[in-house]
This record gives sequence, structure tokens and C-alpha cells, in this order.
Amino acid sequence: MNLSEKDQLYNWHPYTQHQTVGLLPAIVKGQGAVLWDENGNEYLDAIASWWVNPYGHSNPVMAEAIYKQLTTLEHVLFGGFTNKPAVELAEKLLSLLPSNQKKLFFSDNGSTAVEVALKAAMQFFYNKKEVRRRILAFDDAFHGDTFGAMASSGITFFTEAFQGSLVDVYRIPVPVQGQEAHALQVLEEQLQTGEFAAFIFEPLCQGAAGMVMYSAEVLDKMILLCRKYGVFTIADEVMTGFGKTGKNFACDYLTEQPDMLCLSKALTGGTIPMAITSFTQEIFDGFLDTDVNKALFHGHTFTANPTGCAAALASIALLESEEMQANIQRIHKHHLAFAEKMNAHPRVKTTRVLGVIFALEIAREGVESYYGNFRNRLYQFFIQNGVILRPVGNIVYILPPYIMTDAQLEKVYEVVEAAVEID
Ligand SMILES: *Cc1c(COP(=O)(O)O)cnc(C)c1O
Repeated sequence: MNLSEKDQLYNWHPYTQHQTVGLLPAIVKGQGAVLWDENGNEYLDAIASWWVNPYGHSNPVMAEAIYKQLTTLEHVLFGGFTNKPAVELAEKLLSLLPSNQKKLFFSDNGSTAVEVALKAAMQFFYNKKEVRRRILAFDDAFHGDTFGAMASSGITFFTEAFQGSLVDVYRIPVPVQGQEAHALQVLEEQLQTGEFAAFIFEPLCQGAAGMVMYSAEVLDKMILLCRKYGVFTIADEVMTGFGKTGKNFACDYLTEQPDMLCLSKALTGGTIPMAITSFTQEIFDGFLDTDVNKALFHGHTFTANPTGCAAALASIALLESEEMQANIQRIHKHHLAFAEKMNAHPRVKTTRVLGVIFALEIAREGVESYYGNFRNRLYQFFIQNGVILRPVGNIVYILPPYIMTDAQLEKVYEVVEAAVEID
């Protein structure tokens, strides 16, 4: 048996209907933006392996930083102790985050980063003996798959089976162009109830919804409204963080500052699972007391794992390099040109570009389901042409690693252009 066949025998994959899926390619090697499977087939990784890997596969700088840390101190508990990479990473990251962010809480994936933010918001009010247990979130949001994160997510088939067991979330419309005033009105009506602890959102771009975008201006207004009614704002930058939008963080486009940020995905350059939730001093201080029970009783075994922190430090240094910043601008420019070209195509409904994120909606009759047949035909077409793209319904998006070359990017564009003709 080869790897694909053994995998079918033993493994259960995410978001996968195993009755119909068939054998999955077994990737055995990665270099830059290219992946190879066990049969020698080549794939261009045009979504940075689910948005985690901006600096390329098997990056030697990342490998060296991790090796050095592994041979110095691979792991130590964060309960009762601290460690050098965790302190250095905190100092570095806080210098980059919005200036009101003062404390970091470590965990190990995007969902847990969100979980920590939601729990901190709810317990903050509980500690003050205020009853604010509800959460506000956008329609079609995606914040992860653990219970709190899942409850905040609005893509219904992810959460349908668990209705009744979830945190109480009120969903407001996404303030896409033309819907801003309506979304602001719905938000304010809900805020007036005084029942909400926090408003969580993916700033400027909803990734899993199909790279749905809205303006910084309207988000600024939403943050101001939340502040007026004493409701915390949580920017889930798990997807948008670390350069994807053209700036380090999507929140860097804002005038207002959120109370919490969630980070993961590209935090360690796609090497080691790690996540961070950052907080204002006000929130942190809401847990200070002589009573131990007012502390945040949340933690994970691998919290602030030194190897993950060393990887994040190396990853941030790569992000800040002139070369990487130039790469981000280069890809952004190519995206703009490609969007202009595709906008003229009769089968293209619309295009969207933000930083290195490109999205295109194929014009279709009726509504396409998220993992429907049309989406599957597109997906198979991309794979057969050696490009990894995961369309959402009729939306095709590209989120390449920043090191993808012009020639590789051109190949991705060609395949997307050809896919637009598919029925
Ligand atoms: C992927 C994602 C998450 C969940 O992260 P996991 O590491 O998969 O748990 C949360 N929020 C956003 C915006 C994401 O894109």
C-alpha cells in the first residue's frame, strides 16, 4: 500500500465526507510555494496551506531557529515559570500590535485564541457582578470549531448539530458596501439591551465566508459604538494577521483600537501550532483581586511553548525584512492587475483585493452551496492542473505565500482564468 491508501485506512480528515472523497494525495516534500506528492506530482500552494505559511515551505531560516531552540530548551511549563523566547516574543509582538494592547495570553490554535477572548470578556463582567453573557458576531463569520468559537461562527452547517448547546450569540449583518448604515443600526439596537459582553469580528475580511470584505471606516464606527455601550471588541486576526492585508494587522487600517486581538495561523510561519490572545490593561486588571477565583482559570499544556515562541520570533523577523515587505507589495500589484482583467470577463460577477488576498465570484444562477458540486468541480480542476485552491461555493480566492514567484503566480492566474469557463 502507498501512503494515500494507508491514510484512507487509518485517518479521519477535517471537513471531509469520507464516503465520497476517495484517495487523498500524500505530500512528501515542500520547498517555497511548491509541494510534491509521493507519485512525484507537483502542486503550487496558492493558499499558503490554509493561510499559515507566508515564507515558503521548509524555510531554512525557520528551520534553524527551531533547531536552535530545540537543542537549548524545547519545552517548559508556563504555569509557575516563564521562558526566554516567550518574554522576547511578548516584547516584540506588543511593539507591533495596536498601542492599547498590553498583555498576551498564549494558547495553541485559532479556536483557542478565540475561546480565551470570549471567556475573558464574560468573566470580566462576572468578576464585577455584572450580567453580560451574550456575544455579538457577524453573519457568515468563522471563528473556529471549539464550542465558543463555533457559536460565534455564522456558517450554519458547521454548527447546526450543536444548536442548543452553544453560547448565546446575536448575529448582525456584515457591513459590506451599501449595507453599512443597516449594520450599524442593528448593532446599536442590540448594544442598547446591555446584555452583551463582547463583539467579535474578522477585521476587514471574512476569510472562510469567501474573503468577504468591508471598510475600515464602518468598522471604526462599530468599535466606537461598542465602546459607548461598554461592550468589548475582539478582532479575530487569525487569518488577517502578519501581512496578509498589506499591513502587519488588519487593525492597522483602523483609527480605533479593539480591546482584544486573536492571532494564530501565520504567527509561527506555518511551522508550529501556536496562538495568542492580546488584551488591554483594563481587561487584565479586571482579573486582579486577593480572591484567587477571580483569576482566569484557563490554560493549555503547551502554553507559550519555547520552540513555538522561537519560531514566531524568526517568523516576525522574516515578515519585517525588506525582501518580504517588497514581496507583499509585488503580489498586491499583480492581484490588482489580474482583478481588473477579470472584471471585464462576462462570467465574473465581482472581484476583491486586499493585500495579498484576491477573490473572484463566478457568475452563476441561484445560490451555490459552500461544499456543493460546482465547488467540487472547481477544486478538482485546480488539483488536476497542479494548483491548490479551495473555492467556497462559486468564490475562488488566492492567498499565496509571499515568496511565490511571478512565474508561479502567473500560472495560478491562468488556471483561475480557465476555471471561470467551467459549468
Ligand atoms: C482559521 C480561523 C480560526 C480557527 O483557527 P484554528 O487554528 O483552525 O482553530 C479562527 N478564526 C479565523 C478568522 C480563522 O480564519
